[in-house]
Amino acid sequence: MTSNLLKDSERQSVGDTLRKLVKRLGEPVVRTVAGQAMKEMGGRQFVLGRTIEEAQDRGKSQEERGGYTYSYDMLGEAARTDADAQRYYQAYSDAIDSISKRCKGDVRTNPGISVKLSALLARYEYGHKERVMNELMPPRALKLAKKAAAANMGFNIDAEEQDRLDLSLDVIEAILSDPELKDWQGFGVVVQAFGKRASQTLDWLYALSEKLDRRIMVRLVKGAYWDAEIKRAQVMGLSDFPVFTRKACSDVAYLAGARKLLGMTDRIYPQFATHNAHSVSAVLELAKDLSRDKFEFQRLHGMGGESLHDQVLEDSGVPCRIYAPVGAHKDLLAYLVRRLLENGANSSFVNQIVDTSITPPEEIAKDPIDVVVGLGHNLSSKAIVHPSKIFGEQRRNSKGWDITDPVTVAEIDEGRNRYKSHQWKGGPILAVDSVSDEVVEVRNPANPDDLVGHITYTSEADISSALDAAQEGFKQWSSVPAEERAAMIRRVGDLYEENVHELFALTTREAGKSLLDAVAEIREAVDFAMFYANEGIRCKNDGEARGVMCCISPWNFPLAIFTGQILANLAAGNAVVAKPAEQTSLLAFRAVELMHQAGIPRAAIQLLPGTGAPWVLA
Ligand SMILES: Cc1cc2nc3c(=O)[nH]c(=O)nc-3n(C[C@H](O)[C@H](O)[C@H](O)COP(=O)(O)OP(=O)(O)OC[C@H]3O[C@@H](n4cnc5c(N)ncnc54)[C@H](O)[C@@H]3O)c2cc1C
Repeated sequence: MTSNLLKDSERQSVGDTLRKLVKRLGEPVVRTVAGQAMKEMGGRQFVLGRTIEEAQDRGKSQEERGGYTYSYDMLGEAARTDADAQRYYQAYSDAIDSISKRCKGDVRTNPGISVKLSALLARYEYGHKERVMNELMPPRALKLAKKAAAANMGFNIDAEEQDRLDLSLDVIEAILSDPELKDWQGFGVVVQAFGKRASQTLDWLYALSEKLDRRIMVRLVKGAYWDAEIKRAQVMGLSDFPVFTRKACSDVAYLAGARKLLGMTDRIYPQFATHNAHSVSAVLELAKDLSRDKFEFQRLHGMGGESLHDQVLEDSGVPCRIYAPVGAHKDLLAYLVRRLLENGANSSFVNQIVDTSITPPEEIAKDPIDVVVGLGHNLSSKAIVHPSKIFGEQRRNSKGWDITDPVTVAEIDEGRNRYKSHQWKGGPILAVDSVSDEVVEVRNPANPDDLVGHITYTSEADISSALDAAQEGFKQWSSVPAEERAAMIRRVGDLYEENVHELFALTTREAGKSLLDAVAEIREAVDFAMFYANEGIRCKNDGEARGVMCCISPWNFPLAIFTGQILANLAAGNAVVAKPAEQTSLLAFRAVELMHQAGIPRAAIQLLPGTGAPWVLA
């Protein structure tokens, strides 16, 4: 039924196919079958056992054949609450106790455990680095590592999303630096070859093991989460993808990583985890002069790599470790989705080899280096839209900042530190002279000792003169061609980005936003500029501009909504008088200054900061 579903879904959506099935078979039947299929995949196909004991019992026959051992993975990742993290911690801890009983030999032949750091702390994020180092490290990850070391078993830190790479290296360094672990050779790290930083990561790990005089294990994988990495970079408007966009590039990076690791065996025990027969053969060729106990292969339980690794073991004598997920249904989903995505991808080796009528063997076994050389300068896939172009040629994406990248964060901090104690001075911006004189202090809501600046509130008289001037402003602005208005509106977005450090400082100091929210705030404002500029042109013949609009904006989106309301009106040819939330008047003041700098006339957009009271009177 599944294969029919997948075949059908090439022609129509899975939803349509399911609806057809439900019509034919009835919903209860489809539900039962789908439930059964999930149980099959979860209970047997991809998971070795529901408990560590069950998994070890099931793995026994494989171990007894010789040459095979296991790395157990307790299902569960990305803990959402501390209760989850505690539960996962306990599961790892119990598993280590149980696995210890079967650790009788060398760390290379003993079974081991694979750990996901995101399972051990609900906020395992770069933005919470201090907390990670205090709450995750000593009481959880390090404690588990010491337990594993005491049993002389492999303890492997799985590689997760690229935005956690830097943070995980800090954790890895901290664990490895612990003097108690000095003689243990089972500490393992995973490196993802599809990541553009893989080669440097390997060099860094080698340098670290030299500095600390340790021996470590490194599992080289191509990398899961590929789809998510691509989507994240696009959504975040990053300047580039953190991972390769062509499969052949990841294959070549894998070979380059393998060659590097094979030259580091004085410090590193390489573990080549792949189901790709070409990658395996290439590793064997690269390692042909190396003793068989200097490295190992690894495969995932249930991924269909059994016959390949059986044969490799038989022919080459290189041992193989099986990565075996353990756990109950409820923790399976993330793992299962990853495996299904991986197995289902057209480019997947495992997928290609099962149906050679679609991909001929010559194609499957093609040397990836030839493929990459053949690409010339086209190393980035044309089919994958660059983050700056996700809205097509008509409209660029707003620039993004990856605040999980320490280099970007340092750059932002350096820029916004220039405004750390700056005090802004703002007030009404009118097309005529202002007579307002009520000056109010603006303080940081997160730190009242931080004086952000002063704002002059608009008097009743100023409001009246602004409204008069706006009538003239409307006549002037509505007669500007839509294309020219759009160019100025786009320029507003550009100017926001050019002045982003000041806007970061204001968004965090005046509105009390976190840096993450500040990035989202500014990007949304820029997106509004780009979007409404186009809409102004698209709708230019749909009707007349309406007149003078009053835009009142809230404090929780002090730049985004403020900008969106104003630019939508300006794009349509209306003149605007804007009354920002009084809590965030300085940000609005700078925004309107930048609008004027972009060429929009003063009478078309006037700023009237203050409370609502004088408006009611006016
Ligand atoms: C024992 C073991 C442990 C593992 N542990 C981890 C881990 O800790 N962290 C982790 O992330 N993964 C892990 N993996 C999964 C691994 O990263 C791969 O996803 C998986 O092994 C498939 O790669 P392959 O070489 O077997 O197959 P192949 O079919 O040769 O390669 C598939 C891989 O190629 C890459 N790829 C596919 N399309 C593209 C494209 N368009 N552009 C660039 N690259 C592309 C992806 O990485 C994809 O997974 C592990 C795998 C094994 C066997």
